[in-house]
Amino acid sequence: MFDKSTWIRLPRNVVVGKGVRSQFLEVVEDLHLQGRPLFVTSPTPREVAADPIAADFEAAGIDPATVTIERATFEAVEEVIETAETEDVSYLVGIGGGKAIDIAKMASHHLNMGFCSVPTAASHDGIVSNRGSVPDGDTRHSVAAEPPLAVVADTEILANAPWELTTAGCADIISNYTAVMDWRLAHRLKDVEYSGFAAALAEMTAEILVDNADHVRPGLEESSWIVTKALVSSGVAMSIAGSSRPASGAEHLFSHQLDRLAPEAALHGHQVGVGSIMTAYLHDGERGIWQDIRNALDSIDAPTTADELGIDDETVIESLTTCHAIRDRYTILGDGMNERAAREVARKTGVIS
Ligand SMILES: [Zn+2]
Repeated sequence: MFDKSTWIRLPRNVVVGKGVRSQFLEVVEDLHLQGRPLFVTSPTPREVAADPIAADFEAAGIDPATVTIERATFEAVEEVIETAETEDVSYLVGIGGGKAIDIAKMASHHLNMGFCSVPTAASHDGIVSNRGSVPDGDTRHSVAAEPPLAVVADTEILANAPWELTTAGCADIISNYTAVMDWRLAHRLKDVEYSGFAAALAEMTAEILVDNADHVRPGLEESSWIVTKALVSSGVAMSIAGSSRPASGAEHLFSHQLDRLAPEAALHGHQVGVGSIMTAYLHDGERGIWQDIRNALDSIDAPTTADELGIDDETVIESLTTCHAIRDRYTILGDGMNERAAREVARKTGVIS
């Protein structure tokens, strides 16, 4: 008997383009969101996006509350929750890079309120996905929240973000290749639930990005357009899958472990990119997909070595040998790499010297 059922939760309004920041109020009205919003932002995004949007709201007779957060911590999530309760708001808006959006997402999940995403940097796929996580001491708090009701990505703002944030977003997308390989492996070996549609979309997204790598250049507004569309598409793949599997495999475990071992040494996307080179090698040996991934990263100026990440070789080895244990997600790392094998893959792929 066929008795499968599935929920696919997607953002309802996705608006990408030059100057679309000024359409945010219209987007909110279109969603019939009533009452007072709480803007969750950080210092620079506040200036370039949150304050101007607040002015639009005030002109329309709505008085938004604002929380400015400095760091992505669990305490920041709690602060946002408290503010939402005392200020009597009815929905949340994350305005900023990954941090502000992750925090708004996690707080809105806890509060059972809708939230919207206004990314000011195209730095990772969390700006559209339903996944959120923040470090909390030695662990990470991670939630499967709802995806944003709306994503308003102003390419003019995104193009002015530091260039390395854009290349990090690209690298996060390129890592879909290995995430999907891990997903297929886990499906075959462990009967993990798999969606061919989601896998194909995630891979195709990475492919389109790589094919357009020539248009991903500093100062080119088109870059943020290409990257943002790819991040949206990757987020949709995760919504279809109902998990982060299409965009997160062993390369993400490697990056999460680096976050613990060398906090804030490198950007999320850059770490997963380097992880992806190595896990592609583990999947594919000498056949060359790892070289394609390395070349693609190289062509957009994303790091391909430990040195370029600013992380020492030993930390890379430690992460490779321990990261399989940080969450219950079967990948090519299986029950863990031993140190010699980890050194071998890191050397062969040129990640360490
Ligand atoms: Zn990622």
